Amino acid sequence: KKLIYTFNEGHIENKHLLGGKGANLAEMTHLGLPVPQGFTITTECCMNYLADTAFFEKPLKAEVLKAIQTLESETGKSFTSDENILLVSVRSGAAFSMPGMMDTILNLGLNDLRVQSFATLTNMNFAFDCYRRLLQMFGDVVYGIHKEQFNVLLHQTESRLNKKVTAFTEEEHLDVIELYKNLFFKNKVAFPQDPMEQLFEATKAVFKSWNNQRAKVYRNLHHIPHHLGTAVNVQSMVFGNSGDESGTGVVFTRNPSEGENKLFGEFLINAQGEDVVAGIRTPEPIESLQAILPEVYHDFIEYSNKLEQHYKDMQDIEFTIENGKLYILQTRNGKRTAKATLKIALDLAAEGLISKKEAIMRVSPEVIDQLIHPVFDTKKLATAEAFATGLPASPGAATGSIVFTAEKAKEYTALGKKVILVRQETSPEDIEGMVVSEAIVTSRGGMTSHAAVVARGMGTCCVAGCEALTVNETAKTILCGNHTLTEGDIISVDGSTGSLYLGEIPAIVPENDQSLQQLLTWADECAELKVRANAETLQDLQTAIDFGATGIGLARTEHMFFGDERVLEMRRLILAKDEQEVQFALNKLLDFQQEDFYQMLKTVQDKPMVIRLLDPPMHEFLPHDTHEIKILAEQLNRYPSSVEKQIEKLQETNPMLGHRGCRLGITEPLIYQMQVKAIFNSAIQLAKEGLTVSPEVMVPLISEKEELDYVKNFLTETIEATFKEHQIEPFPYEIGTMIELPRACIIADQLAENADFFSFGTNDLTQMTFGFSRDDIGKFINIYKEKEIMKQDPFQVLDQSGVGELIKLAVGKARQTKENMMIGICGEVGGNPESIAFFQQIGIDYVSCSPYRIPAARLAVAQAVL
Ligand code: ADP
Ligand code: MG
Ligand code: MG
Repeated sequence: KKLIYTFNEGHIENKHLLGGKGANLAEMTHLGLPVPQGFTITTECCMNYLADTAFFEKPLKAEVLKAIQTLESETGKSFTSDENILLVSVRSGAAFSMPGMMDTILNLGLNDLRVQSFATLTNMNFAFDCYRRLLQMFGDVVYGIHKEQFNVLLHQTESRLNKKVTAFTEEEHLDVIELYKNLFFKNKVAFPQDPMEQLFEATKAVFKSWNNQRAKVYRNLHHIPHHLGTAVNVQSMVFGNSGDESGTGVVFTRNPSEGENKLFGEFLINAQGEDVVAGIRTPEPIESLQAILPEVYHDFIEYSNKLEQHYKDMQDIEFTIENGKLYILQTRNGKRTAKATLKIALDLAAEGLISKKEAIMRVSPEVIDQLIHPVFDTKKLATAEAFATGLPASPGAATGSIVFTAEKAKEYTALGKKVILVRQETSPEDIEGMVVSEAIVTSRGGMTSHAAVVARGMGTCCVAGCEALTVNETAKTILCGNHTLTEGDIISVDGSTGSLYLGEIPAIVPENDQSLQQLLTWADECAELKVRANAETLQDLQTAIDFGATGIGLARTEHMFFGDERVLEMRRLILAKDEQEVQFALNKLLDFQQEDFYQMLKTVQDKPMVIRLLDPPMHEFLPHDTHEIKILAEQLNRYPSSVEKQIEKLQETNPMLGHRGCRLGITEPLIYQMQVKAIFNSAIQLAKEGLTVSPEVMVPLISEKEELDYVKNFLTETIEATFKEHQIEPFPYEIGTMIELPRACIIADQLAENADFFSFGTNDLTQMTFGFSRDDIGKFINIYKEKEIMKQDPFQVLDQSGVGELIKLAVGKARQTKENMMIGICGEVGGNPESIAFFQQIGIDYVSCSPYRIPAARLAVAQAVL
């Protein structure tokens, strides 16, 4: 098996072996771009080494030696001799990009001797700059000595000598190197002088960095498997820190925040590696390069166009200029905000680079979720006082308590508080705190700083480089003009404008935006599954329709029985002593519900609306404490003791498995009769007003064919009678059932004989199939996940092998009886993309989900086809 590929041998198809960085370095080499030569040690080697460290001695070591020899002859330089010095970088790179999560070491190969000859070859300052950087990165990555400790030593020396490092004499440089080496010594390690030894240790350290804490957290967050490993790229160095015609930079080929087709990036003259993102000096915008090094700029434009055309996507490019010559060191599909994702996908399609279908696939449903997320209420914003403004690094609107550390962020959120993480600059160690924060604010760093990049990836609101803030992380204070803020103070952060506000500002959901409409229209053209909404309040119904629901898949009616006035009538009905009382209560309820249905149907108009008849257990409507019972007794003009006895009789041990759903409809047919009467009275009224309405009446919790036959029979009678009463020609309507019990799935062929439609209630079906109470699963699901007994909460993502199989069986049986029966899914998983893909496969007609999940679901149903 091949352990190492040179960039010339590598191929983009081998991304799983070469990692993203390695595969793209190979691809760019084939494209003829100026890439410093090198080789990639595969991800498999990483996993082999992590499983058994002996793998390194044999067989890997010999292969690395060979690869170095090849690199030496390719470059005509030497990695070990003191002449014509070859230095390399050792760069991590997994198959899925994990920016900054694993480690890289630059300038490998320098030592006490070679730095001298390197200085004669180039210049002294530069040579020692490289050597110091090597010692620092090596100490940090290989031995875990924090970077900052080296900086402290350097700064101390600078102050002691009262001059900048760039003005040091050779002796003074050597002094600093001595201090650095002492730091190694204090940590009971030594910096290896042998370049090969350096390379071996660095490689092992990069392998190990696959398992560092922040990389693990990042993988969990982005659902990247833990068994993939990282590749190690060994690449000959080019030096951006070798003078005024040298430099380094990072550029996105399009704006990663807004998506516009314009280069977006920064560079620093006379700088190396991560100087740009580390926010040490303030970088310049890429456009300025045109004036400073016009030829380099010209070349850069050519390469960046070439890369975008080749990858057919926005690229995030790292480059280095060495003495006026441009090198490309990395390219990858750039991370971007939700807004930019959408714009870039649509633009690329318009430019003819990708097809409509590809554009649909480029946008994930989660992106859509972010696009419809809140922004601050503009009216409230107008009166709010912005106390500082930074860079609008990642859009969104958030309010929360200030915290200064990742630990505090976790601590606060564990208590249910919303937090805003405020730091000078974030580093990969902060990842856990960033995940739980509503927003991230930094006082330093640019649009490509760590905070900005990570926040955009997570869809978290972020304001970066807010320089007006003096953030003191130890004292836990922020000074800004005449404001002093401390931990726990509430601020609001606008990631779209970069403004920070004192106190809370209410947020609202943005209007449906045009580009989103465009994409979703394309999605609708491809989709087979329809998307309906679970909604019953007028506002939710309207939102659902605005978001493009093709109908209502589940309108519950419970709410029509609650509220002081209504629940009293329901209670009167349940506890009624005589026929007269029953009729009184029913008439009242009928009036209420008729008005409700009228408004609901009018909102939905000609779109189908599934209305579910009353479902919850009886006891939910009854009072339980003595005081409330006393009041009720008074209202009903009865003795409290008699009411109490009656209520006691209605108690159930297991209400969710008790007297509910159609069981209630069978024992108390008057309630269901009243409900359909209310539905059809209002439907007929609307028909008379000239509207077409299509109510679909759904009977819950059926487990037996006879139950459905019985209920459907009296419902039909009532509906027909209602049409007669109004002297109107009956219009089409349907009576179907909710399939939410395992038994109903098994006898679906029988149920289909008398049902006009099916809708799977996946919440109850999951509950009844697992025997997990939906209300109690929270107590153990996290432990189940930790112990890897279950991967996901089955109430959020369909359990395909259990509940899914039952649904599949039921669909098959139902279609045997009635080939074209309408079959839908309502319940939480109806809006989950992964579950949607399964529903597409088994021939469901529509999914139904809550209104805010509709845009994402419209996209997911299209992606399920493509
Ligand atoms: P990351 O994955 O964290 O971006 P990289 O491996 O890309 O880490 O390297 C970190 C920095 O070092 C980048 O700015 C990169 O451009 C620079 N770098 C890496 N290898 C070389 C090299 N051979 N010559 C010059 N600069 C390099
Ligand atoms: Mg990089
Ligand atoms: Mg149910």
